[in-house]
Amino acid sequence: MNLAKKLGLKKGTYLFSNCAKMPSKMKCRLLLMGPVRQKKDLLAAGIEHMIKVHKHKRSPKLYKEAAGMLERVTVA
Ligand SMILES: [Zn+2]
Repeated sequence: MNLAKKLGLKKGTYLFSNCAKMPSKMKCRLLLMGPVRQKKDLLAAGIEHMIKVHKHKRSPKLYKEAAGMLERVTVA
């Protein structure tokens, strides 16, 4: 199965964050993904998730942390 096709992804470079890769007691598996040009939208969603679910405090440091969680993947 081609996951990109299954998800209906168009060709391009995407950013994603995968909570399953982060150490967390709650075993969160949320996956957030968006095209590079919508990095701001992705970060905004990720930060809300980190605050609401992972109980982080909103701060400039959190923005850096969220940005650091993003990984790049290209759909060819
Ligand atoms: Zn999470």
